[in-house]
Amino acid sequence: MMPAYNPKRILIEVVMMTDFAINRQQVTREICQICEDVGRTASDVQLLAVSKKQLPAAIRALHAAGQVAFGENYLQEALSKQAELADLSLEWHFIGQIQRNKTRDIACHFDWVHGVDRVLIAERLSAQRGEGSGLSPLNLCLQVNIDQEVSKGGCLPAEVPELVAAISRLPYVALRGLMVIPEAGHKDAFVRTHALFESARSVHADPQQWDTLSMGMSGDFAEAIAAGATIVRIGTALFGARI
Ligand SMILES: *Cc1c(COP(=O)(O)O)cnc(C)c1O
Repeated sequence: MMPAYNPKRILIEVVMMTDFAINRQQVTREICQICEDVGRTASDVQLLAVSKKQLPAAIRALHAAGQVAFGENYLQEALSKQAELADLSLEWHFIGQIQRNKTRDIACHFDWVHGVDRVLIAERLSAQRGEGSGLSPLNLCLQVNIDQEVSKGGCLPAEVPELVAAISRLPYVALRGLMVIPEAGHKDAFVRTHALFESARSVHADPQQWDTLSMGMSGDFAEAIAAGATIVRIGTALFGARI
């Protein structure tokens, strides 16, 4: 059935599209400026739009402004949005905590997973991705609890080499790099993460694939880019406050 013509709804959607297009242009400009300031190439930094707790209409609006990559934290919420937006060609990143009994849906419905911190989870993702016929390898980032906070997920910095060695040898995943969420105010954490990233390259089964640093959010992406981030995960600065 065709939705009824609803002028108010159409107006809201147009306003949303304009707002989000402006926000995205602003964030993109800032990324370019930061890159210029620190001597990096802007195309080496990917903007991941974090759409958790935002409506499908908001994702549609940002996509209309040119955004392709979206990050989601909660599996059920993400799956229902994906179903509603199936007509769009989007790249989906799972950036939330991964429960062991949810790996099959994550393996089959996402292009990237940023929160892997155990070999067991990576093994399950690899095996379940492999069962989906014709899917390309699932891109993974190893999450590091860089400030060793009790409340946060991620492996310990000292565990990185052995985890990289093991996970990079699994068949249906491509281990691309590291992901961190530093403790607030710990801006040197990005520099420490970059050093860990470089030191783990030699233990990766295919060092050519080791090319990603997922770090930086709305409040700290400048410092993250200065330290080598290749994916910045931005929610609030694009969509405004979450509902
Ligand atoms: C919510 C979230 C973000 C985005 O945070 P903002 O401050 O809204 O930009 C980035 N990364 C992760 C892992 C998140 O959970």
